[in-house]
Amino acid sequence: MVMQSTVIPLAYLISAVLFILGIKRLSHPATAAGGNRLAALGMLLAIAATLLDQQVLSYTWVVAGMAAGGLIGLTMARTVKMTAMPEMVAVFNGFGGAASGLVAIGEYLRLQTGAGQAAISVDQGVSIMAGTLIGAVTFSGSIIAWGKLQGFVSGKAISNPLVRILATLLALGSLGTAGWLVAAQGADSQTAMFWALVAGGLALGVLFVLPIGGADMPVVVALLNSYSGIAASAAGFVLNNYGLVISGALVGASGLILTGIMCRAMNRSLTNVLFSAFGTTGAASGSQDSGDKVATPVDAEDSAMLLGYASQVVFVPGYGLAVAQAQHRIRELADLLTKRGVRVRYCVHPVAGRMPGHMNVLLAEANVPYDQLCEPDDVNPDMEQVDVAVVVGANDVVNPLARDDAGSPIAGMPIIETDRARSCIVIKRSLSVGYAGIDNPLFYLPNNRMYFGDAAEALGDIASEVKQL
Ligand code: NDP
Repeated sequence: MVMQSTVIPLAYLISAVLFILGIKRLSHPATAAGGNRLAALGMLLAIAATLLDQQVLSYTWVVAGMAAGGLIGLTMARTVKMTAMPEMVAVFNGFGGAASGLVAIGEYLRLQTGAGQAAISVDQGVSIMAGTLIGAVTFSGSIIAWGKLQGFVSGKAISNPLVRILATLLALGSLGTAGWLVAAQGADSQTAMFWALVAGGLALGVLFVLPIGGADMPVVVALLNSYSGIAASAAGFVLNNYGLVISGALVGASGLILTGIMCRAMNRSLTNVLFSAFGTTGAASGSQDSGDKVATPVDAEDSAMLLGYASQVVFVPGYGLAVAQAQHRIRELADLLTKRGVRVRYCVHPVAGRMPGHMNVLLAEANVPYDQLCEPDDVNPDMEQVDVAVVVGANDVVNPLARDDAGSPIAGMPIIETDRARSCIVIKRSLSVGYAGIDNPLFYLPNNRMYFGDAAEALGDIASEVKQL
């Protein structure tokens, strides 16, 4: 009894504190790994508390579920490619939503009033309906987001207003049904209505994500991440489990903050992302037709000359660095230059790559010194002093159109202004477009050179030439 009333809530409180400290430490690369361990410890404590709680009736199922889930999670985490992380996060959000939804559904069916049973109270009802509806929306929405990222579902944005009207009507209908079910207090006769609510939630998730273009999926995934947290929190209220309420709220809030950061970095509002039918697919297919503009090519030897005799070099990594898995090569070249007395920095744009922190993760894997990492605002003001800016597999994040052309689809997005450096080398395989699907005038500027090739090979070849200097 003492265990139930004191020890268990205390354990949940301590685990919540560990989650918060863990998240705090995640904010810097040097403390991130420790932060992750703290949060994992918090989760272990929360799981232990839940297992000790007398509400757990069968350890067989719990252990079997943990073993199966742990094995699947471990295999997925070990085998996933860095470029496929957004897909994996989307699937995991879906599972989170489904789990919370199932808890709420299970609790509704368990509490439903048969003869002689007490009615479901209003607060219980609100938690159950919220968990069911948000869980269902999160599950089906995440599966569609995963399909779009994976290419099973068309990545095309749908601008037909009928889809939006239908989604709005469905949302209103689902909310009305949820309200009705709360008022019905779990009467047996309302079971069909409850299943209608589940179906409505699932359809709503599909209609919510389907019209959004593949290019905006990472933002949608961040938002769905937040929904999965809210669903978990609602499930926590359903079960009277403080640990779940707090951790769900943390996920809900951090998912929302992340969504905001991503929207700001792309200079778009959330409404614009959700309702503007921007973007086509993740792999935008652009033409290589450059009209009468001429891009000047450069080879490894000349690149090495430029870099080896520079005093300031800034590397700008982008999605191509992840595709080529060139993080170790970039570090090797940077180290060679540093040894020659060149001041080297890596400038990371918040939306470079295909998920938040994509470049930071890759550079951390290569043990890039933290003091060489910087943000656009650290480099842009003094860009004229930079001798060579090396753009490695990036495109949109260095596109001057964002700054110069108010009509451009990426107008207003803050960029790394490598066009203002004394000279610039862009390493990519062709002149084709990036995620936003638009041409990049940087490639044709007189101070820019194009190094055509795979990023890993190019950086390796340049490094070999630098060694010869
Ligand atoms: P981009 O998608 O603009 O460009 C990447 C470039 O990498 C391509 O033009 C491609 O050119 C090149 N590339 C691909 N493979 C290789 C390779 N093996 N070696 C060398 N180059 C390669 O990437 P950025 O990082 O500049 O910009 C990210 C974009 O994604 C932005 O538009 C951003 O808004 C968007 N986005 C990012 C999110 C995030 O969370 N990070 C979320 C949502 C959207 P080529 O084919 O010629 O080699």
